[in-house]
Amino acid sequence: MKTLLSLFAATAIGVASFVMPALAQDKGVVGISMPTKTSTRWISDGETMEKLFKEAGYTPDLQFADDDIPNQLAQIENMVTKGAKVLVIGAIDGTTLSDILQRSHDAGVKVIAYDRLIRDSGNVDYYATFDNFQVGVLQATSLVDGLKANFADVKPWNVELFGGSPDDNNAFFFYDGAMSVLQPLIDSGDIVVKSGQTGMEQVGTLRWDGAVAQARMENLLSSTYTDGHVNGVLSPYDGLSIGILSALKGVGYGSGELKMPIVTGQDAELPSVKSILAGEQYSTVFKDTRELAKVAVGMVDSLMQGKEPEVNDTKTYDNGVKVVPSYLLKPVAVDKTNAKDILTTSGYYTAEQIDN
Ligand code: BGC
Repeated sequence: MKTLLSLFAATAIGVASFVMPALAQDKGVVGISMPTKTSTRWISDGETMEKLFKEAGYTPDLQFADDDIPNQLAQIENMVTKGAKVLVIGAIDGTTLSDILQRSHDAGVKVIAYDRLIRDSGNVDYYATFDNFQVGVLQATSLVDGLKANFADVKPWNVELFGGSPDDNNAFFFYDGAMSVLQPLIDSGDIVVKSGQTGMEQVGTLRWDGAVAQARMENLLSSTYTDGHVNGVLSPYDGLSIGILSALKGVGYGSGELKMPIVTGQDAELPSVKSILAGEQYSTVFKDTRELAKVAVGMVDSLMQGKEPEVNDTKTYDNGVKVVPSYLLKPVAVDKTNAKDILTTSGYYTAEQIDN
């Protein structure tokens, strides 16, 4: 028995000394809370961060919340219980996290808002995102370019507006950026929003749901376009664009004489890239999520070393309690002329993924 025990102890020590170097490198748990898997971008954001954190010696705890707020709260709670030192959060509803963030702060946990600003909390340390106002500017600029190129003979242009989820702070930045380009054209009479529906209260799409956008587009077509045609649709996200295009196709746009309106998008999701190359969706905005993941991981690593993370904006993102120091990446507009080139040379997709 004694021999057996000492053999066991020796083996245990052997295993321990074999395992120890890995443990010694462990820089601690980092919670990664992503909102949903329904859009591929969040899966790739989460998985890229998971990989980079592992490479940097951290133990990532990656969770997706299925667009369910209580679920996201429970997952974050659980990360804190597991001893996470930092949380990287892509919020579902940017206003619902104040309580759990207070408790996290009290436990010494740092918080990075990922892509979407977390509102109404002083316990958000940094924000990693894209220039969200510029995303809207790019969408509207591309919409107007498309109208000029494809509907030169039509005046005024009939345009309908779609916004993102009203519980996502980004949605307002996208909308405001787009309106900074479109409002002057509405004022001058070059663009008419025939439905009269403008402003985020009227055009927002809860939870970025493509089916909701499709239903609203179907309603607009049957209520407002029994005479006259729609020439352009401002869509803030590819998942909505797919629903909008489907409503348009349903009443005959894109076949025969009835030209497909100019429809914008965001995220360069594969189905939309294919749609753009097939001449349906007009454009999208490419945001390299791998770069965003890198920024967030870099922020965490700096914090963990007691250094100040690098930021490039300290004015824009007021969350209602504080202006959160931010790092903004540049979004890029893509359309049929450059989508394949930009997306493959950056390595975001392979040519096979796009072509098949
Ligand atoms: C993101 C967009 C995305 C949208 C829907 C926004 O917060 O910034 O990239 O299209 O959420 O998932």
